[in-house]
Amino acid sequence: MKIFNTINEFNLAKENLTNLTFVPTMGNLHAGHTSLIDFAKETGNIVISTIYVNKLQFNDINDFNNYPKTLNNDIKLLEDHGCDYLLIPDKSILENIASIKAPTKSQKLCGKNRPGHFDGVLTILKKLFDIIEPKIVVFGMKDYQQFIIVKDFINNNNLNINIIGLKTIRETSGLALSSRNNLLSTKNKNLASILYQTLKDIETNKVSICPDLLNLKIDYLNSCGFKVDYLTSCDEESLEECFDIHNKNLLLAVAASIGGVRLIDNIVLTKL
Ligand code: AMP
Repeated sequence: MKIFNTINEFNLAKENLTNLTFVPTMGNLHAGHTSLIDFAKETGNIVISTIYVNKLQFNDINDFNNYPKTLNNDIKLLEDHGCDYLLIPDKSILENIASIKAPTKSQKLCGKNRPGHFDGVLTILKKLFDIIEPKIVVFGMKDYQQFIIVKDFINNNNLNINIIGLKTIRETSGLALSSRNNLLSTKNKNLASILYQTLKDIETNKVSICPDLLNLKIDYLNSCGFKVDYLTSCDEESLEECFDIHNKNLLLAVAASIGGVRLIDNIVLTKL
């Protein structure tokens, strides 16, 4: 795998790099990330990944400073999965960057308590799209809202990029793999799987999905030691709250902290 440590280095080589499938990451890679690389390889294109911990999308400076960094291991994982190129953008990425304001959808779910988060996500991704000019970009559906907001951004701006979202990779306990899991104590990591179990529990009772059911589950999660940010049922596209399971698929999404570590997860409830 060829590594570019600066954007300038990448630009010098870019002429020969066409038909790229791009997997953006913030590093501390795990099997969720490598599933995206594996899929990217199947597209038949050259595969490029980036590792960039995007300060613009963090609301909490401690969260940014504590974000796990495991570059050597990341490089090995990417190589093992056949990634062709890795770009590690230097700080020049922020030079003359155009700030992007995410649409109102970004104020729902994770946006409520993380103002500006999706502005930061789109601002950096647009810059990376301009630099890399990928044909295909691959995201995980664990970050469902991010996927929808980036998909809308690509469509609304007529960017010539095909966006693909892939299923969440989980531990056997059901816990969604996340770089943040490394910040959990053993006890809290065990507890963290309750998030997915709760989503699956609601799925079992989806015929009676309503605000009261979700409120009961929020109380339950809080009693287990979580601090629930939201547990919401919503329209898959607009992200507006919705319980109409008889007429459409619903996104069931949760964000909660345990031991100060914020975790997110979601499943799609198929319509009855
Ligand atoms: P991050 O490094 O957290 O910015 O994530 C980079 C990409 O990996 C994003 O598209 C995420 O949605 C995706 N990703 C993170 N965790 C998982 C997972 N457990 N399964 C699948 N994709 C994931």
